[in-house]
Amino acid sequence: MPLNPRSGDMYDFISHTWNPVKGKCSHDCAYCYMKRWGKQNPIHLDEKELKTYIYQGLTIFVGSSCDLFADDVPDEWIKKVLHYIRNFPYTEFFFQSKNPKRILPFLYPADTNFTICTTIETNRFYPGIMGNTPYPKDRAEALYDLYYKMDPRIPVQITIEPILDFDTKKFVTMLYGLPVSHINIGADSGNNNLPEPPRKKIIELISELERFADVHKKKNLRRLGI
Ligand code: SF4
Repeated sequence: MPLNPRSGDMYDFISHTWNPVKGKCSHDCAYCYMKRWGKQNPIHLDEKELKTYIYQGLTIFVGSSCDLFADDVPDEWIKKVLHYIRNFPYTEFFFQSKNPKRILPFLYPADTNFTICTTIETNRFYPGIMGNTPYPKDRAEALYDLYYKMDPRIPVQITIEPILDFDTKKFVTMLYGLPVSHINIGADSGNNNLPEPPRKKIIELISELERFADVHKKKNLRRLGI
């Protein structure tokens, strides 16, 4: 199976996406772009994907359509996926999960071509929007814990996307001190009628975050005037 070249609102540092685990993601976020395609199959490991040749020099988002570390993904599937990609040490692999507390047991110290990222859309929990995901505060704490237990050469990022209305002081406090190399910020690009913060609040947040991290503004923030 071929890798999928970056498209749409994907990060500009990603060259390709690759989804060996497919099907309905149990996190069930209301804004998930996969919902645009209608009813999804049950989650499964597509063994054919484990024959994909992965060229060196690429940066591949593993699990862009289904969170590889969601609680219902069996350990065996995750191990098989990581075992396969360890054949390609000259390729960068990007893992983004809303369940970072599950990642640590699967990492090896030599996985320095991996980047770990967690999505934290806001400091608040919006039950009708965030589905079955861990609370943002718990994601941040898990990421902090993960960083101090894994090889420090493995980079860590946070993504605030789709940005949801937040409490500035509480949100900055939640993120301050997290050992991240980058914070990516993006907006909903699916017309999901989300509770978005006003432009002024986003500018204030970016300014606060830039005190301790490199902030990468995604192009889809332009709709909110940023
Ligand atoms: S975690 Fe990602 S893939 Fe899973 S439902 Fe939420 S947006 Fe979709």
